Order: sequence, then C-alpha cells, then structure tokens
Amino acid sequence: MKRLEALRLGVQIGGQEILRELDLRLEAGQMLGVIGPNGAGKSTLLRALAGIQPARGEILLDGHELAALSPRQRARRIAWLAQNGPVHWPLSVARIVALGRLAWHEAEAATRQATRETLRETGLEGLADRNYDQLSGGEKARVLLARALNGKPELLLADEPTAALDLAHQLEVMTLLRNHCQAGRAAIVVLHDLRLAAHYCDRLLLLKQGVALTEGSPRQVISAHWLELAYRIRLREGIDPLDAFRLEWTVMT
Ligand code: ADP
Ligand code: MG
Repeated sequence: MKRLEALRLGVQIGGQEILRELDLRLEAGQMLGVIGPNGAGKSTLLRALAGIQPARGEILLDGHELAALSPRQRARRIAWLAQNGPVHWPLSVARIVALGRLAWHEAEAATRQATRETLRETGLEGLADRNYDQLSGGEKARVLLARALNGKPELLLADEPTAALDLAHQLEVMTLLRNHCQAGRAAIVVLHDLRLAAHYCDRLLLLKQGVALTEGSPRQVISAHWLELAYRIRLREGIDPLDAFRLEWTVMT
C-alpha cells in the first residue's frame, strides 16, 4: 500500500448518523491516531475501513476501491484488531498467532516459521504453549495484536490496542506498531491516552459525534482549543498542551 484515502465516508445505523462526511488520507510508513470522546464514532470508522460496517462514500487503496477486492485479497492487505477481542478461545497462543497467516494459503512450515518470528518480536515466546483462555486480559490483548501483525498487513487497524495493558506493555505495543509502520506499512490506531497519541503518531484525527473536528500533526491537534471543544476540558493557564501530555518513560532492556 502506498496510500489509503477515504472520501466523504458516512455511516448510518438505525436512522442515526454515526459518521458524517469524513475524509481521511494516510501514506505508507505513517501511523494515524484516532482520538475523541466515548461514542465519537472511532470504532465505527475502523469497522467501515475494515469493510465490516457498510458505509457511504469511497475507500481507496492506492486509488482502487476497497470494495472491489476479494475477501482474501482484503484479508492479506488489511488487518483489523477489534476493541474487545474474543474472550474465550480454547487454543494455544501459538495456534492463535498462526491464524494471522490464514489468508496467505502457504505451506505449514512457512506459517510455523513466520509465527515463531512474530512470537519472538512481540515478546510472547514464553506464552506460546499456554491456553489463550487462561491468560490475563492484557496477555490476551497482546496475543491478538501478534496475530494481526503475523499476517504482515499493509494496513493495520487497531482499536484501543493498549486499553488493558500496564504502562510498560503500552509502550511495548506502541513500539511494535511504530516498527510495523517504519517497515513501510501503515496503521490507524484508536487511542484514549493522549500521551501515547502525541508521542507515537505521525498524524492525529480528532472525532466528536461522528464528525472530524480536525486532522493534523500532534502539535496541531493537541491544542487547548481542540481539546476543549472535543472533551470539554481546560488547560491550566501558561502550560504548553504538548508538555501536558509528554511521555517521558521508556522500557528498560
Ligand atoms: P467510539 O468507538 O468512538 O466510542 P462507536 O463507534 O463505538 O464510538 O459508537 C459511536 C456511536 O454509534 C455511539 O453513540 C454508539 O452508541 C453508536 N453505535 C455504534 N454501533 C451501533 C449499533 N450497532 N447500533 C446502534 N448504535 C450504534
Ligand atoms: Mg470504540
């Protein structure tokens, strides 16, 4: 993928406008953070981009309609990580991560090799043989991300991938997403933590009530003006908004 474009995207559910006239553009190598209050339409936007939610408007991958791709082609190019993944799944971690390669229809040895590498990169080697059902919420979230990354999708759509994680694992997950993008792929990530959004994302899209309030660099979007409009929060006098959301922690190696 070189470029993803969504033009005048709209979603209506039960007579309600959930997403309105939304335009979005993303280049390979970039991470776009989607932020905004609860119920803004962030998950709906990701589902529309994943092709799971019917939507008006156009979604173009390198200029071609996404809707024209076969399900298998789409599954190879785009991975969607749901906000609340499956809780019960009586399979080993290695088996679940291996499922991320299903769309490739490759030899079993190739899947095993790729899965081994992904388990190592995501720091899940130690959990490989564990039953998914017996993991903690945070461990489950990391396994589902590893499954999505294992398919090496050109575009990863991740809905609150850090929600259940302690701070160290939040940083690790964001680093994995950044590495994914630095390898020439792209990611759209829904985040509530504005520190993570400001630190890791190249661009931010701020949604409220189904409308894109603004889109731009973290410096442009994380401003007193926009955060006040979006969240009804006020910044203390004389503070730089980016300073107020600075992330000053890294993971020890
Ligand atoms: P966010 O992820 O930003 O918190 P969502 O995209 O999940 O928001 O939801 C946006 C709005 O759409 C909410 O008001 C939610 O109640 C509504 N909504 C989402 N999915 C449905 C659905 N299937 N039926 C009815 N309303 C829905
Ligand atoms: Mg959501």
